[in-house]
Amino acid sequence: MEYEAVIGLEVHVQLNTKTKAFCSCPNTFGAPANTLTCPRCQAHPGTLPIVNKEMVHKTIKAGIATNCAIQKVSRFARKHYFYPDLPSYYQITQMDEPICTEGHIDITVLNEDGSSYNKSVRINRIHMEEDAGKLVHDDTGRPLSYVDLNRAGCCLIECVSEPDISTGEEAYQYLTELKKILQYINVSDCNMEEGSLRCDANVSIRPKGSKELGVKTEVKNMNSFRNVRLAIDYEIKRQIKALNNGEKILQETRLYDAKENTTKGMRSKEGAADYRYFPDPDIPVLILKEEEIESARKELPELPQKKRERLKKDYDLPDQDIIVLTEEPELADYYEAAVKAYPKQPKKISNWIMVEVNACLL
Ligand code: ADP
Ligand code: MG
Ligand code: ZN
Repeated sequence: MEYEAVIGLEVHVQLNTKTKAFCSCPNTFGAPANTLTCPRCQAHPGTLPIVNKEMVHKTIKAGIATNCAIQKVSRFARKHYFYPDLPSYYQITQMDEPICTEGHIDITVLNEDGSSYNKSVRINRIHMEEDAGKLVHDDTGRPLSYVDLNRAGCCLIECVSEPDISTGEEAYQYLTELKKILQYINVSDCNMEEGSLRCDANVSIRPKGSKELGVKTEVKNMNSFRNVRLAIDYEIKRQIKALNNGEKILQETRLYDAKENTTKGMRSKEGAADYRYFPDPDIPVLILKEEEIESARKELPELPQKKRERLKKDYDLPDQDIIVLTEEPELADYYEAAVKAYPKQPKKISNWIMVEVNACLL
């Protein structure tokens, strides 16, 4: 039988706010362990959360930039689970009433023969939540782990796509575009190595042309976009092989092993009911005014897709040039300033930037 893959991505992004989500501890990477904490982010009893305005503002920007509807009424909930890096034993997140819903990101995907196609990947939601701390495992061989709460309570957004993605390459392009958008609007540095962007891939397969969704696995532990692509492609092959052998796909969480380029079963998946979600009684319903949404909208710069289309139209450049020049908005600005100074040869200036200038920037 011929199968097709169905993929949905859950992407966690750390916001570059000055302070944490519900207390005023600084949000800084790399400080000595447990120096950026207070009773609230250590979850002492009796401490109360205060919603960080900058987090809300930046999430609205992320929502508008990904074509989402911004909900004037949204709510925080508690998601319960036990893990040593989560001292309150619940995470404050948004469940039934997220702040951003129903967006989409448009991507262009290259075929192997050099041709390309466009696709729109729908976004189910973007919601706000707090990050957990970090476990640091003893590296002298003793069976010890340490808890660092510097990251506990930092601002995260989670962007959940609809299962509209069909290949590892499409997932790669979706992540690249999402990252570019978030960097353009300056809400995150999206540095996967420092953990400020983390991606889980939900993967299932189904008979080609079928409308029903198959049983999915959730693949974690990829530390680069390239590994996300490899993990998905591996997982699709593994599932097809299993079905062809008459095995069942188990709904489970699997870890990607970059050394072997395989995925390994880790645990069966919790259902939402296991988390005992309920509205956080310490945080009032979040109500946004039209002005707050409008002020976020006004702050948005020209977004990557618009910039690419405009540069193509204004300067008639090949696609490859456009991709390089719009890698960072500053480079595109520099290009446009250079063309203004020397308007006769936009393509020559592009060559000069892509070769000479980029070589100096490395
Ligand atoms: P969960 O509660 O298990 O995390 P959700 O329904 O919230 O599941 O979906 C999480 C992610 O999984 C979303 O990105 C969604 O698009 C994707 N997804 C849901 N069902 C499937 C499926 N059968 N195959 C692939 N991806 C799926
Ligand atoms: Mg999930
Ligand atoms: Zn704190």
